[in-house]
Amino acid sequence: MKLPLTDPSLLKTRAYIDGKWLDANNGATFSVSNPVNGEEIAKVAKVGAAETAQAIAAAERAMLEWQARPAKSRAQILRRWFDLMMDNQEDLAIIMTAEQGKVLQESRGEVAYGAAFMEWFGEQAKRIDGDVIAAPSSDKRIVCIKQAVGVVAAITPWNFPNAMIARKAAPALAAGCSIVIKPASETPLSAFAMAELAERAGVPAGVINVVAGSAAEIGGEMTSNPTVRKLTFTGSTPVGKMLQAQCAETMKKTSMELGGNAPFIVFEDADLDAAVEGALISKYRNSGQTCVCSNRLFVQDSIYQSFVEKLVKATAKLKVGDGLTEGINIGPLVNSKAVADVDALVQASVSAGAKVALGGGVHELGGCFYQPTILTEVTPEMAVFRNEIFGPVAPVLRFSDEAEVIAMANDTKFGLASYFYTRDIGRVWRVAEALEFGIVGINEGIISNEMAPFGGIKESGSGREGSKYGIDEYVEIKYILMGGL
Ligand code: ADP
Repeated sequence: MKLPLTDPSLLKTRAYIDGKWLDANNGATFSVSNPVNGEEIAKVAKVGAAETAQAIAAAERAMLEWQARPAKSRAQILRRWFDLMMDNQEDLAIIMTAEQGKVLQESRGEVAYGAAFMEWFGEQAKRIDGDVIAAPSSDKRIVCIKQAVGVVAAITPWNFPNAMIARKAAPALAAGCSIVIKPASETPLSAFAMAELAERAGVPAGVINVVAGSAAEIGGEMTSNPTVRKLTFTGSTPVGKMLQAQCAETMKKTSMELGGNAPFIVFEDADLDAAVEGALISKYRNSGQTCVCSNRLFVQDSIYQSFVEKLVKATAKLKVGDGLTEGINIGPLVNSKAVADVDALVQASVSAGAKVALGGGVHELGGCFYQPTILTEVTPEMAVFRNEIFGPVAPVLRFSDEAEVIAMANDTKFGLASYFYTRDIGRVWRVAEALEFGIVGINEGIISNEMAPFGGIKESGSGREGSKYGIDEYVEIKYILMGGL
């Protein structure tokens, strides 16, 4: 498959280590394909532990000079990287849609969202301020400085092939760290294209490295190599737990952005049309494959019927197809295993008594396409309630009062995003404070932006990405005591 790129040199297929594009030591490759039709887009170098160790060593060497630079110099390079990502937005979006499946409009949006982290953290690089704090006696002074944590390893998923890298690489570089990135094997091409643009922006050789291939081998080296001082991961909760355990051996600092099970609550005093619009975008974006997708819709008894009718009508209008075609709203799922997993959750819930109000199975286009689906009369015992669905399936539950819905919403081991719709100011505060989630969207279905702290509690992980807090993940505080004054 040939992609219609303005700049074909953005399509890189080899590992990027120490400023060079390299084949795997043993010449191995793997295939990256378009989920619309399974067509191969490229063969990519499949590296393992040895090349990863090489990248980590390069990152350690490169970091010496990078962290010693004035913050302003790092900021200027991040700003140029932002500009180049935006100048090449269309090509980056085409590469992303081809390998991931999301519709072109969403890919363009993701490139802009990802680039915004380069801009934001470039600005923040100049504000990594230390502190002078009160000492216990007058002949002493206490000073705190913040220093780059060290070489960073990043493992990222396929659902946001650009932004999940941007959210990690931008603060790492801003703080003076170097980074070795392992993108998901489904979507390495977006990662390589970003590295190419980083090089053009002036990021020195070795400061950014990208290795794709065996997750277990690359992950094993990243977690065991003592030079890596920080692992930042976005992906599933089971893999996150395993990586965290592996990092314990060398006491690495970690950030974990894991799975979610977002409640989306509609109270009877809500603006129903706004709630339907919010549900649509938070549920069906990226075909339901985001960790902040609403996973359980709770609707108060008195408006249940009218909400479901409006949601069915709006969802039925969504056009399913090849994301590269303009006007399509929902692309394919990432691969056939994803389709099978989503369908298994739907069928188990239907067998347990859920009603299908729309869709309910594989789409007539076949392949990796799934029908936008709405299930009603869902209960907390059903599989769609307990599990992260990661597909275009909206389970709708009933509730009668505020206390009941808060208890049901919090009845999950996850704690990433949550949403609710109401126009009562007292309820806004009560519910926002009672929800056990790291993020609460009120009368809004989209909550992510570079200026806000994104992250979860409970088994959704630890650490925050974006915002003024995001840089904290990439620095250590050093306390300096001056005595004998
Ligand atoms: P998802 O369900 O989103 O694919 P995963 O947690 O399986 O989530 O994958 C997220 C990232 O973690 C990907 O880059 C994947 O290759 C990587 N990964 C999966 N298994 C391992 C592993 N055993 N060690 C290291 N990385 C892994």
